[in-house]
Amino acid sequence: MLAQPLPPRSACERGPAGRAARGLAARAALWLLCAAPSLGAAGTGVSGPNAPTGAVAAAATAGEARAAPAAPAAPARPLVIAHRGASGYLPEHTLVAKAYAYAAGADYLEQDVVLTRDDVPVVLHDLTLEGVTDVETVYPERRRADGRWYAIDFTHAELQRLAVHERVDPASGQPSWAARFHERGLPLRIHSLADELTLVRGLNAATGRDVGVYTEVKSPAWHRAQGKDPSVVVLRTLAEFGYRNRADRAYVQCFDFDELRRMRTDLATDLRLVQLIGENAWAESATDYERLRTVEGLREVARYADGIGPWIPHVVTWPEGGGAPSYTALVRDAHAVGLVVHPYTFRIDQLPPNAPDPEAVHRALFEIARVDGVFTDFPDRTQRWLGR
Ligand code: CA
Repeated sequence: MLAQPLPPRSACERGPAGRAARGLAARAALWLLCAAPSLGAAGTGVSGPNAPTGAVAAAATAGEARAAPAAPAAPARPLVIAHRGASGYLPEHTLVAKAYAYAAGADYLEQDVVLTRDDVPVVLHDLTLEGVTDVETVYPERRRADGRWYAIDFTHAELQRLAVHERVDPASGQPSWAARFHERGLPLRIHSLADELTLVRGLNAATGRDVGVYTEVKSPAWHRAQGKDPSVVVLRTLAEFGYRNRADRAYVQCFDFDELRRMRTDLATDLRLVQLIGENAWAESATDYERLRTVEGLREVARYADGIGPWIPHVVTWPEGGGAPSYTALVRDAHAVGLVVHPYTFRIDQLPPNAPDPEAVHRALFEIARVDGVFTDFPDRTQRWLGR
């Protein structure tokens, strides 16, 4: 029942003294919304001299020709989804990053899953290893012809010899995030999906909380071309830990629409499914994301899935040179067909283009766009903004 939107209820109805109003700026934003609806509408167009440019502008176009999102359904309690753990503070997808996220109050912990050579689902964002491990020094000879080391070429036991570190650009060796965790030499390891589900089960038992899991099947078409079927393995592993239907605290996410549909139909899962939405240019899958963001596309998604995970610029963009953000109709359109909306990714060290500060991003997503949750590298910051 969690994460299901309540019937439409506007921020104005709750009033500026209600739960939605947090601090002076929030109250001012609400006042503007309530007292000056025309001003709110004026701030939502994308045309004119302040229109965003480039990829973000392209992202903002699909499904957006209509007017401002008018009082979309208010989420019962927006979800804080720890993106790769508390990855703003500790190397992504390590158990310490997950424990930190848990302690920071996240509602869900995210797992990206790829398969090893011996079909163990491991929690890793990339198909390759060199961005977050020392594979190039431990197994120098195991690279493919393209110069990369693929997790699928190693057994789970072999992967245990690798040390995980903060993400770097493999070409330069430079950290991807200048201000994040710098230390090396800790015994941080790649862990299996079962390891992480065990951690969550143990923490839930020890704390009495009910933190959920939010598992992504990575590149299923690529895996299948390599003779693997990650969706089957992931769904089986989740079921072994008691995650079997919509009442359970689990979501399964995927960028590949055909695969998501297959999970619901052929693989007959009753778990909550989330269709991730990217840009076609990213080539995440063969899915046409521009079409999925249309009303017709969302309607089709809703036949199989319970929610969408769009890129933040699919929901809101900020103009160059400052000014009011522009909102697409995506959240409203998704809510209209019963889909929850969990955009990615909130990062204090990589705000959406032209966004003035982290608070503005939180406010835009939660108070104006009324999303149902957000993927965040900084779950503590998102929790704090939500007043929890
Ligand atoms: Ca992910």
